[in-house]
Amino acid sequence: MGDNTTYYDQINLEKEMFDIEDASEFYEVIDRKRLTHSLLPDHPYVYWTMEIYDQANGIKGGGGLGVLAADTRRVAQQLELPFVVVTPFYRTEYHQTMKNHQQVDYEEAVSPDDFGFTFIDNVDILTADGPVSQVAIFVKQLGSTKFVTVSEPNFGALYSGESNSDHRLYQEVALGFGGYMALKKIGLKPSVIQLNETATIFAAISRLDELCANGMNLHEAIVYVRKHTLYTNHTLLQAAEGEFSFDQFSKYVFPNIKSRALRHWIEEQFDLSGRLRNSALAIELTEAKNGVSRLHAKVTDFRDSSGERVKFHAVTNGIDMDNWVLPETMKTFRDRGIIDKFGMVTDVYRQQLYSVTANDIREHKKLGRSELNNTLAHRKDQYDQPVNLPENAVVYNFKRRFVSYKRPYMPFEHIPTLKRVLSNHDAHYILAGKVHQGDREMYTRMQELLEMVDEDPFLKERVHFIQDYDEELGRALAVGADVAINVPEVGLEACGTSWEKDIANLGILISTPDGGVADVTPLACLEVRGATYAEEVASLYVQMNHAGRVLADDDLLQKLIYRQLSAYLPVISGARMMKDYLRFLFDK
Ligand SMILES: *Cc1c(COP(=O)(O)O)cnc(C)c1O
Repeated sequence: MGDNTTYYDQINLEKEMFDIEDASEFYEVIDRKRLTHSLLPDHPYVYWTMEIYDQANGIKGGGGLGVLAADTRRVAQQLELPFVVVTPFYRTEYHQTMKNHQQVDYEEAVSPDDFGFTFIDNVDILTADGPVSQVAIFVKQLGSTKFVTVSEPNFGALYSGESNSDHRLYQEVALGFGGYMALKKIGLKPSVIQLNETATIFAAISRLDELCANGMNLHEAIVYVRKHTLYTNHTLLQAAEGEFSFDQFSKYVFPNIKSRALRHWIEEQFDLSGRLRNSALAIELTEAKNGVSRLHAKVTDFRDSSGERVKFHAVTNGIDMDNWVLPETMKTFRDRGIIDKFGMVTDVYRQQLYSVTANDIREHKKLGRSELNNTLAHRKDQYDQPVNLPENAVVYNFKRRFVSYKRPYMPFEHIPTLKRVLSNHDAHYILAGKVHQGDREMYTRMQELLEMVDEDPFLKERVHFIQDYDEELGRALAVGADVAINVPEVGLEACGTSWEKDIANLGILISTPDGGVADVTPLACLEVRGATYAEEVASLYVQMNHAGRVLADDDLLQKLIYRQLSAYLPVISGARMMKDYLRFLFDK
């Protein structure tokens, strides 16, 4: 790679070589030929999301839900699908820096003007007594896809405040009603709407209101909206969802609704304590509902208004492989008939994967390591220093939000064992992740962890905490580290996608049987198991040690990478995810 090309340039170059002509080819292979007539540029697939993580387009998310949204749009673009994302353009984003081993958050201002967006118009969001809020609509076309964003100077940051706060409700209302008005202004009528989590429910409410205003009766309108809306759930417990009071609805929601019948219908959905969860509305207003991995769809326990358990279909999250995988590795997958031009596995991929030798794996990881070092050269560790990893060192990594259920502290539970593993394999350990604002417990745990490292000369040299975890770092670690550690508390990870980046980049995965990893049982990677936490910790060290041995042995390495890829490549493919959604949403 030349000095002046970024990885984005390189990815785009690679992509062009495999461009398909138009979506009809894809519709044919997924057995949905009639989509050529039902998904059209002015009648697109519309994806509503509070969060999207697409730094190249100036929008920074908080985690997996936003990464998924960005990957879904990029996959749609590659497949030439008419696809629109409606999302806020937050003018403020948070970054992490470290001071005395503690996370310190700071804000940065961003504007859609700086990222090639075009201003369309302002739309009014009404409140009961406060002033009208003018929300600006900015759009950006990317191939067959489009961003439609809503924003205004006081829109605030992603997930600022409590999930049941007035401001959150205002953001949700502005996205739902504002986004729907925006679509009308630019002449788009959704063919189908996907609600990425229930915070986007006001899109469906806005659509209902319009149908009523156009003369449909409420019952007909509900039937119509139910048929054309998909609700994608990422939450396990209904109790964890935001809920709002009747007063809040009166202030922020009802003023934006024209239909009295619709307003009354919403009033009837409040529970006896005068509160309403977004999920209650989402459950009523959508026929198609999905969870984001097999296990997640199975264990999610949501109830409808009559107490019946809600059925979620499973569509496991995939990733845009061209974005996350080293271009050279993608080329190998394509040249050897493992991945087809749509980005799905071929019929013979399992056979073809035998051609990926230990030598190939080592060559690709070497390229990846040099990319990782390029990235680390302009990033900072816990001491504000850049890191340079020795070319031959084994690198373990843990990169994910620093949240309790993901258990970032697990490899540090028994320091003597961790030190033994690292020294046995001449290894380094990289940690990256942000604590969610206000999560006091995890701020403290991060500080304790980094102080422990600081007090031990060996760990201080071998354990690198890289600040401000983001897409760039996520990708660099996936391509350049050897072993990834993914140990969520079983039952709490909806899917996770960073493990998919690791496997697709020929890394070794160590994981608990949770989220999308558990789509395949028994796990086709190094599994952490145990009846108690102590047993899981012991199992993790055993697997870390085992991974080190595998890396030193060509035969073991080729076999393990084969096992991972042959089991998980179909899951990882973002085009497969798109196929699953289209087949779920549209009958033949
Ligand atoms: C891939 C990625 C995620 C998703 O990670 P999971 O923890 O697996 O859900 C989150 N944040 C960033 C920056 C990523 O690159």
